[in-house]
Amino acid sequence: MKIAVLSRDASLYSTRRLVEAAEQQGCAVKVIDHMRCYMDITAHRPKVLYQGSPLTDIDAVIPRIGASNTFYGTAVVRQFEMMGVFTTNESQAISRSRDKLRCLQILSRQGIGLPVTGFAHSTKDIEGLIELVGGAPLVIKLLEGTQGIGVVLAETHQAAKSVIEAFRGLNANILVQEYIKEAGGSDIRCFIVGDKIVASMKRQGAPGEFRSNVHRGGSTGKVKLTPEERSTAIRAAKAMGLRIAGVDILRSNHGPVVMEVNSSPGLEGIEAAAGVDVAGKIIEFVLKNVTTAQARKTKS
Ligand code: ADP
Ligand code: GLU
Repeated sequence: MKIAVLSRDASLYSTRRLVEAAEQQGCAVKVIDHMRCYMDITAHRPKVLYQGSPLTDIDAVIPRIGASNTFYGTAVVRQFEMMGVFTTNESQAISRSRDKLRCLQILSRQGIGLPVTGFAHSTKDIEGLIELVGGAPLVIKLLEGTQGIGVVLAETHQAAKSVIEAFRGLNANILVQEYIKEAGGSDIRCFIVGDKIVASMKRQGAPGEFRSNVHRGGSTGKVKLTPEERSTAIRAAKAMGLRIAGVDILRSNHGPVVMEVNSSPGLEGIEAAAGVDVAGKIIEFVLKNVTTAQARKTKS
């Protein structure tokens, strides 16, 4: 079995762990920088070239595409799909997960618990938007933000109005969201592989911080999930069409609500907090899927 991990940097924790786990399970594994892959998109036999030669005999790719390279990275994943190579997440699902607004719309249609969230274009509609989410305090989010940057808690009506006006004045697209105060600055990350939660952790924001992101000084720990939380996370990943996903959930008074579904969830925090070999679970999943697909091919 030959696996390619699509990653910009072989020294990143998640990339290293995937390589290690693949080797442990007897696979040949290579780290390929997707931004250095190129391709003849019209060739009769689709291929991907890397460092001057075509990549052949690859059975599976594990995409670890950063948010800033989504467009090119997903084009490379798509080319592998054209070649019949198994991918842990399909290009379309990765693209879909990168659009926060679209994500919420898809989850909502599936009846998955979400914080009340509004979206508007015109500053003339600010009052209506604030009212829609139940008034201040409320959370304002830049659609393009990651790692908690561009997520603002507005404590009063006046603050909410000013921040929304400021963002819209810069032509930034924002979501306005009900503030889940009862979450107490913590959230839960569920790591999904296939249709199972293989690991989970609680993240707690630094004192006085409502954002739980580790990049914002948050800390991690163990958590026991309720059955409702488990089913919410699994349904959310499924609705997004992701086989590998990090689903972030807040514990609200109206049950678990999904914040975000991440298509390249990091392994470092969660392997340590949960004490689980998540990389090993991903490789097992790849092996199972590729072997099934190959058995099907030989039969037909
Ligand atoms: P990012 O994608 O940048 O991490 P999130 O939307 O996940 O942005 O928000 C970052 C963090 O802020 C969340 O993990 C959560 O702890 C907190 N947070 C976000 N939205 C809310 C909300 N509506 N109510 C309470 N806390 C929130
Ligand atoms: N890619 C970032 C990391 O590896 C964040 C992904 C995530 O939210 O898990 O830490």
